[in-house]
Amino acid sequence: MFPNIPFDRVNWFTSGFLVITFFAAVIGTPIYFVYFGIDPVIIGLFATMFVASGMSITLGYHRLFAHKAFKAKKPVKIFTLLFGAAAFEDSALDWASDHRNHHKHVDGDEDPYDISKGFFWAHMGWIFFKLYPRELDNVNDLKKDTLVMWQHKHHRLLGMLVGIVLPTLIGALYNGWVGALGGFIVGGVARLVAVQHSTFLINSLCHTMGKRPYDSGTSARDHWFMAIFTFGEGYHNYHHSFQHDYRNGVKPWQWDPTKWAIWTLEKLGLVSHLRRVSEEKIVLAELREIKNQTEAQIVDNQGWKLITCSTRQEAYEKLVEISHQLAEGYHELEKAVGDRINMSRENLAYWRDQTARAAEQITAMRHLQATFAV
Ligand SMILES: [Zn+2]
Ligand SMILES: [Zn+2]
Repeated sequence: MFPNIPFDRVNWFTSGFLVITFFAAVIGTPIYFVYFGIDPVIIGLFATMFVASGMSITLGYHRLFAHKAFKAKKPVKIFTLLFGAAAFEDSALDWASDHRNHHKHVDGDEDPYDISKGFFWAHMGWIFFKLYPRELDNVNDLKKDTLVMWQHKHHRLLGMLVGIVLPTLIGALYNGWVGALGGFIVGGVARLVAVQHSTFLINSLCHTMGKRPYDSGTSARDHWFMAIFTFGEGYHNYHHSFQHDYRNGVKPWQWDPTKWAIWTLEKLGLVSHLRRVSEEKIVLAELREIKNQTEAQIVDNQGWKLITCSTRQEAYEKLVEISHQLAEGYHELEKAVGDRINMSRENLAYWRDQTARAAEQITAMRHLQATFAV
């Protein structure tokens, strides 16, 4: 009936869990609220559990364990391991191993959630199939961490206790069996489904929708809209360019609550050694990307230089002039990065402006291209 599906490789336990929890959440939650009324305490329980388990994935599983973007003291490790288990996304060790493979082989065959196999595959399709035995040969550093190994051994039990029993118990203490049911369905099941799909979106939509200001050679993209649902992980093009940075939304105005949480924990003395990519490296990456685009656009519009006295010729010449400036900036920044020299704020701002100017000119040229093509 479905000849393309390798049924012998289907992981029935995980697939069943994903499907049953999904339908239980989308059907059970509205029924609960219609039957017992919208209770702000139950909604608050959902929100608290969502933030605790969602951030344990972004701050703990992702930035701390998979990328080692900072060092954490025991309380932070224990919290993120417990509430990370409550998201039912495997152990931190398994998760980090898959994720390191994703970065190493992005868009290739060995990328576990390879977007070139389709949106649904990258979102959750890959989880329906057996991932075991994982080789786990890229997480030897984490294997030395006794807390990580303890969670790896017991993550299903911990997930049940923290992710399901805890919200049910809180609901029961608040409002007897009605509260317990709300805690179970809304705070437990619907919340875990919401956290899972928020993570899945990073692998699917963040590799589909948005811009690529740092590197157009990868499918990973930046989009503010995605950052809202993913505790700041939506700046995925930046992340794939600089995976060890504790920030994903690197600009001060970008929505990245995980970055703010890590920064706050540092002030409280609970985390340390935050890794930051230098401004020079970031501007260099942006400038390199726009320089490549500028050069491609020049090649594309070579014929325009022969059109005398026209807007197209003017636009072409302007882009060539910008391209020369970008080449100059590229060498200056590359040298600064190589020699680990800090450039002045004014100098960095100047090259950022040149990058923005080049982007505007490329847009203007594409507009002209479209106008004259008609
Ligand atoms: Zn990715
Ligand atoms: Zn990552």
